[in-house]
Amino acid sequence: MNLSFTADQETFRKQVRSWIKTNLPKKDTGAQPLESGDPKRVREMKDWQRKLHQAGYVAMGWPKEYGGRAADVVEQTIVNEELVLARAPGLIGMMGILMVGPTLIQHGTVEQKHRHLPKILTAEEIWCQGYSEPGSGSDLASLKTRAELVGDEFIVNGQKVWTSNAQYADWMFCLVRTDPTAPKHKGISYLLVDMKSPGITVRPLVQMTGDAGFNEVFFDNVRVPRRNLVGELNLGWLVANSTLAHERNMLGSTTRTQQMFNGLLRLAQTRQRYGRPAADDLVMRQRLADLMIRVEAMKYHAFRQLTDSIRGRPPGIGASVNKLVSTELNHDIAAAALEIMGSYGTLARKSNHVVDRGTWPIEFMFTLGLVIGGGTSQIQKNIISERGLGMPR
Ligand SMILES: Cc1cc2nc3c(=O)[nH]c(=O)nc-3n(C[C@H](O)[C@H](O)[C@H](O)COP(=O)(O)OP(=O)(O)OC[C@H]3O[C@@H](n4cnc5c(N)ncnc54)[C@H](O)[C@@H]3O)c2cc1C
Repeated sequence: MNLSFTADQETFRKQVRSWIKTNLPKKDTGAQPLESGDPKRVREMKDWQRKLHQAGYVAMGWPKEYGGRAADVVEQTIVNEELVLARAPGLIGMMGILMVGPTLIQHGTVEQKHRHLPKILTAEEIWCQGYSEPGSGSDLASLKTRAELVGDEFIVNGQKVWTSNAQYADWMFCLVRTDPTAPKHKGISYLLVDMKSPGITVRPLVQMTGDAGFNEVFFDNVRVPRRNLVGELNLGWLVANSTLAHERNMLGSTTRTQQMFNGLLRLAQTRQRYGRPAADDLVMRQRLADLMIRVEAMKYHAFRQLTDSIRGRPPGIGASVNKLVSTELNHDIAAAALEIMGSYGTLARKSNHVVDRGTWPIEFMFTLGLVIGGGTSQIQKNIISERGLGMPR
């Protein structure tokens, strides 16, 4: 197995690194978090994505006619790695780029592709995901939001919940029940909904981090043109699953996990535990070694996925493995950091005695959300065992 990059790829990495160095936005320490939906912050984040896109570094693998570069997946991997290493801001349009975009490329009409794909890249359209409902999370196919086809329009009524980014999203990719008499997986359709449509109400939900990253979204006789249906009527489950496979991949970044682990090592070397650096404590050393082995294993799993991608194989069970392993690992790394910090780990971001600018307790809470969002660990294990290993239900 050859795990090294070619000379051309290394040259490309240097170019990317130098571009990021010149263009990385300056950190604004007083800035509102993006979750607040602050228009200034949203605009800055859109500007950053547009700049990256203009440089050719967003969705590089997409076809050229839709704004991509039809580039090699390795190049996008290099760009992603460099962005994480530079601690660059994430992309505000991630759900568009990594979830609905690839789904439209696979299942969308020509009109849908031309209408949405270029704007997803330039951040003119920010997307949110309307899947979960009260009572329909893991059992997603039991969803009840109803869409009735009347003439050339769907009339949508119901409620979504835990909808990340809905507070500033322009569009939602949304699952609705179009045939209530059919078996539950067979009466669902996949709609593209303009969030400015009359009848939509968005209410923020505050998470334990203190930020309101997700929302309840209510639909009261919302009219959606029939041309916004993706795939066949009542066969939206197929389309929904293609988006889910892309989501599982989105939620696991090896480089970010490695960075978190490096931060944990720094903490262990500098913070005292029982009168000596935490890294010298035998119990903590075992824990660090265990985490490091998991980080390495995740890295090799990512290489395997990269190989699949290069060979044109769709993200399959590997995406579930990635989601399961990376989200749990990130949470365990943050948990180890809190243990090293002892009572300092409970300090809020603005306290005078806060360690590492208070990022660890926030990471601990935020990463727990990622273990649940995008399908819980238990659900990923079900998928891996049933679809991957062929075990009985
Ligand atoms: C941070 C965050 C962001 C999110 N963003 C979005 C979003 O943008 N859009 C969206 O649509 N949704 C979003 N969600 C919702 C997320 O997809 C659901 O929370 C998730 O699918 C779990 O559903 P639930 O919360 O209803 O829990 P439930 O399905 O009620 O699960 C409760 C518990 O039971 C377990 N369980 C359930 N069924 C089984 C089973 N068959 N086998 C074994 N164990 C089982 C689960 O693992 C879990 O531990 C987000 C969630 C979080 C935490």
